[in-house]
Amino acid sequence: MVRVTTTDRRTALRAGATFVTAGALAAGCATHGEVARPAPATERSSPKAKAKATSEAPAPRHFPTHPTQLTHGPRTHPRIALTFHGGGDPTTARALLAEAERHDARVTVLAVGTWLDEHPALARRILDGGHDLGNHTLRHLDINTMSVAAARAEITGCAERLQRLTASIGTWFRPSRAARASPLVERLAHTAGYPHVLSYDVDSLDFTSPGAGAVTRKVLGEIRNGSVVSLHFGYADTVAALPAVLEELDRRGLRAVTTTELLS
Ligand SMILES: [Zn+2]
Repeated sequence: MVRVTTTDRRTALRAGATFVTAGALAAGCATHGEVARPAPATERSSPKAKAKATSEAPAPRHFPTHPTQLTHGPRTHPRIALTFHGGGDPTTARALLAEAERHDARVTVLAVGTWLDEHPALARRILDGGHDLGNHTLRHLDINTMSVAAARAEITGCAERLQRLTASIGTWFRPSRAARASPLVERLAHTAGYPHVLSYDVDSLDFTSPGAGAVTRKVLGEIRNGSVVSLHFGYADTVAALPAVLEELDRRGLRAVTTTELLS
């Protein structure tokens, strides 16, 4: 695998990026009480989304001035990335995507492979909205504790689904049930075609269902230039909180962009 050199580190630090210690675990994405419900027959689609209906998934990109595992982008520009665990009730996914698009915001979805199996149309829906789509393992298990073969299968299993559905494995990989990838998982992700592991510096804790107000306060209390925010599809609090979050981001002049744009 490609190791980050001292020069890369200095360059990245100048760019405002932060290195994280591999192996550190976080509470985020620990459990997800997902309840399957039937998807609506039709979904809302903005004119802008329709105009992008033929867009293709980008090939995985490497940002050499950014660390292999990153928690945020440059602190020098008023841009942030809202990143979503792609799982759970697809109705919440569609509602969150539509709300983001109403505010001309773009997000990043890290999709669970089995979720894509159940809701394959969502892969194109995400890309057609101008959002980033990445890999969040096949089954959302505690990947840092798995054997080499099992962890590899979790990463490549999701990558195969993304490739089949969108003709790209996506740029971003996020480990399941951990904020940081272990050195092994980082290496396996790199080998699978993901130059970067996407962590975050703001945890909304929405998966604990603390109420929409608490989610809004947590995000808005911690977000700043370059932040990467961890959020989840599948939770009513997130759907209820997003309008207020987006309105306040607009008021502060913080633009919600894809992770690819945040780092470009
Ligand atoms: Zn997750």
